[in-house]
Amino acid sequence: MIGVIGATAAGRRTADHLAGALPGACALDGRPADAVAAAWDRADALVLCMATGAAVRVVATHLRDKHADPAVVDVDDARAFAVALTGGHHGGNDLARAVADALGATPVVTTATDAAGLPALESLGAHLGLRLDPASRPHVAAVAAALLGGERVARWRARPWPTGPLPGAVVDVATPAAPGIAVTDELVAVPAPCLVYRPASLVVGVGASRGAPADEVGGLIDAALADAGLSPLSVAHVATVDRKAEEAGIVAAAAARGWPLVTHPAAALAAVAVPNPSPVVHAEVGTPSVAEAAALVGGGELLVAKRKSATATVAVARRPVRGRLAVVSTGPGAAALVPPLARDALAGADFVVGLDQYVERIRAWLRPGCEVAASPIGDEVARAETAIGAARGGRSVALVSGGDVGVYGMASPALERAGDDVDVVVVPGVTAAVAAAALLGSPLGHDHCAISLSDLLTPYEVIRRRVKAAAEGDFVVSFYNPRSRGRHWQLDEARLLLAEHRPASTPVGLVTDAYRPTQSVTLTTLGTLDTADVGMLTTVVVGNRQTRVVAGRMVTPRGYA
Ligand code: SAH
Repeated sequence: MIGVIGATAAGRRTADHLAGALPGACALDGRPADAVAAAWDRADALVLCMATGAAVRVVATHLRDKHADPAVVDVDDARAFAVALTGGHHGGNDLARAVADALGATPVVTTATDAAGLPALESLGAHLGLRLDPASRPHVAAVAAALLGGERVARWRARPWPTGPLPGAVVDVATPAAPGIAVTDELVAVPAPCLVYRPASLVVGVGASRGAPADEVGGLIDAALADAGLSPLSVAHVATVDRKAEEAGIVAAAAARGWPLVTHPAAALAAVAVPNPSPVVHAEVGTPSVAEAAALVGGGELLVAKRKSATATVAVARRPVRGRLAVVSTGPGAAALVPPLARDALAGADFVVGLDQYVERIRAWLRPGCEVAASPIGDEVARAETAIGAARGGRSVALVSGGDVGVYGMASPALERAGDDVDVVVVPGVTAAVAAAALLGSPLGHDHCAISLSDLLTPYEVIRRRVKAAAEGDFVVSFYNPRSRGRHWQLDEARLLLAEHRPASTPVGLVTDAYRPTQSVTLTTLGTLDTADVGMLTTVVVGNRQTRVVAGRMVTPRGYA
């Protein structure tokens, strides 16, 4: 029997609903304390529809033994959460989920293996192309327990494939150990409990004569992998030459194994150096090698040289390990303006690089096991190099900066230096001009530009020329870095240059610390702008000749009608 008890009117309505919705449930009347006392020894579980504080108080005096006590689930009056309070492993977690389903609420489950361990290890590194070898599944609980218990867990990687963050006391070791995590594309024996993850590291190159049977092609691939001690779970894709894209035997063999088929032009394959070129193949297909060249076209090392059956050829290569660098925008300030994509990238990072002030803002989204390299303002190049170096060394790196990472941010210094051995993901965000515009109204409704007045990296002559061009072009202008302690006259000069082409009444918006607790928003005009009101963290938005103030809001019309 599941006893359902409500304290308030809202709670009693929830209780009645659950009594009808859950098999074996019945609503118990009376004062909650009395109802709990009466039901404690005969109920399998209790669902208390009241605040957690009240629920904890009414069950506290009865709690004896986690095996004998009924499981207790608590539901708040707003029906937002179903909390497994006690007896999580004795039905409480499942009951919390069932209650949540019945109410459209969120289940809250805090027992460790349910909450943090199993799902996290099942999908560890999934965003980086890792897959848990199903043969390891029976050991997930043991490794999760070791990680969560703070035990030393050994991470062994045959190559520096990134894994993403791992909570707990993880140490890198030179041979597989238990409890541990192994990342390898090879069929190696590991001690128990050790979870084997398969990187998407292998490319299977295939050639075939017309009509080659799928069984023959597939069998040849399987044997090549098995003889070389390679896991089929690490096959990233099957590759061949363009003109074999429709070859049924190849298509079916790849599909049956769940591998994508990638094809390359003969000319691209002809350019790849291979150990076993064939003049006969060259004459026929336009490249001296199909299988080996297709396996190697993306670079890497040949693990299985060309093997043949009657009608097919196969070769296997291991792709070079690629670093993973996410360049992540953190918006102007408020957590609500950190995009979900940025949160995902941060959660998947095991190394975060950024200015200390930005890193502080995003710490909540980092996972246990993530290392942080926060530095004071200054050397952007050094930060970019730290991030790229770490990515090359096999870490999953997030390089963060405020606003949009691509607007006067870290994306350019990083991408100027990242080679094609690093996978780069750029996560966009809300840049200062857009944040300021939203607070001012709609000043960017027509053609606009951004100009940074910082002459740290740009000769001032270039900046002046651009301000003049913006003035002549009648662009709305967002000035970034408008003023700093040692640099104050540039904004005054910019104001005068703009005033040559637009009236003194042109609206100007000053937004300082947008979307932060210290935010300030001021509307002024080109004629009355006092540059002393402008600081390091101000964005200055100057309207064009059509910009007006409507009901206190700065608006640039969409057209010139
Ligand atoms: N990548 C950042 C810009 C960095 S340049 C972005 O996309 O927003 C730094 C300048 O941005 C500051 O001098 C200021 O002009 C502007 N800025 C950054 N954050 C701001 C905020 N919260 N409010 C107003 N202006 C801001």
